[in-house]
Amino acid sequence: MDYVKGADFESQRAAHYAFHVTAMPHLIGRMSWPREQIDAHRTKSLRNLLRHAKAHSPWHARRLAHIDAERATPADLDDFPVMTKSDLMDNWDEIVTVPGATRKGAEAVLREARDQFYIWGDHTLLASGGTGGRPGLFVYDWASMAVNWASMSRGMSRSLARLAVRQFESAGRPYRTAAVVAEQSSHGSYVMGRLFSNPMNPTKRLSAWRTIEELVPELNALDPHILVCYPTRVPALAAAAAAGELKISPHIVFFGSEHLSDGGRQLTQKTWPKADVLTCWATSEGAGSFPCALADGGFHVSEDLVVLEPVDAAGRPVKPGERSHGVYLTNLFNKAMPIIRYHIDDIFEMDDAPCPCGSAYRKVRQVHGRAFELFHYGSMFVHPLALELAVLEQPSVIEYQLRQTARGAHLLYRQAGPVDAGRLRLRIAEGFARYGLREPEITVEEVAELKRTAVGKLQKFVPLVH
Ligand SMILES: [Zn+2]
Repeated sequence: MDYVKGADFESQRAAHYAFHVTAMPHLIGRMSWPREQIDAHRTKSLRNLLRHAKAHSPWHARRLAHIDAERATPADLDDFPVMTKSDLMDNWDEIVTVPGATRKGAEAVLREARDQFYIWGDHTLLASGGTGGRPGLFVYDWASMAVNWASMSRGMSRSLARLAVRQFESAGRPYRTAAVVAEQSSHGSYVMGRLFSNPMNPTKRLSAWRTIEELVPELNALDPHILVCYPTRVPALAAAAAAGELKISPHIVFFGSEHLSDGGRQLTQKTWPKADVLTCWATSEGAGSFPCALADGGFHVSEDLVVLEPVDAAGRPVKPGERSHGVYLTNLFNKAMPIIRYHIDDIFEMDDAPCPCGSAYRKVRQVHGRAFELFHYGSMFVHPLALELAVLEQPSVIEYQLRQTARGAHLLYRQAGPVDAGRLRLRIAEGFARYGLREPEITVEEVAELKRTAVGKLQKFVPLVH
């Protein structure tokens, strides 16, 4: 199998980075589009996508035979069949529109490659699937991978502009970024960081696998203006900051991976009161949102690039303020792998109040974890995120995992100081009681280590059955 690596990869990457830089002002400019312009653009993009998919993907052509690509609008998506990750993986070769591309070929290169690469000319791969469900394999064309990164990072532009002013006023030095993220892998956070890190001012990458004791001196030495990390690392970083060991004062804390709970956001803001705490929603299927410093923990859907439909368990639309059971994603920008009305089980809560930033893009108030994380007890269920406050109020708990048991839950935690285990049990039981689970059996256990996935994520919630 032929792929681009080594020195050839580096020169191709430099061109890719330059392309990304050129595209950025345009994508930032779109953030101030009025509603009519967003709607007109997404209708046009949807028709382009449908024409392409019908012409180049036999699988989509069969399923979308009844759809008129010249007249369809996002409002017609209800007539479209729903696509699942199993559909995608089982019909990969018939879905992907890159000539000669096969899933077998992609998997062979992933097994062999020891660093980032391009495949089939200028295409890139993302793989996902550590924390639940079936692993997925996704291919992006040249432009769409750059757009994928820009679709998220453009949301930092306002915070970066403020930082630039401060930098200029102080020393005029470039800003420093630290990212506590996946190690060399096909996970999006690694691939996009590797492709689009500024060669003149590279991001300092620190593995999310490493212990806090290892991370703290490196972070202190760099003193980053921008800190990118997984929300599951926040309690440990906050504890180190409270203990006076971690001395950084970031201007931006950005969470682009895993779900950021209210408790996690409050803890971050309390730890670094001057920082813009930014979050958004990203998946390997297509980054669908951009952060907003003024959205009070929420973020905006990149409606110029995707169509997101929050739905209930029966696939019906869910109103703002209510929790969905999942979303359908249509990726309008990646022609290499048309993703059309694709089910993802993230629990969305939309917000229809206008955002103080003035954006006309729809706002997500929060993503409340994933439906597969729900703990089911007979006919009732509890989302374990609701129990997280019990843990976060104890600053010495630096990592934890909550496992469902037949009549309650078992909490495993790592501690950096004294922990009130009795209070932990009590507060978790109170959380369950709010959902109606009476006399739950709660056990807690201190452990020396919690296992992270291959890309350094921690599975916080382990239901009894998926
Ligand atoms: Zn906003």
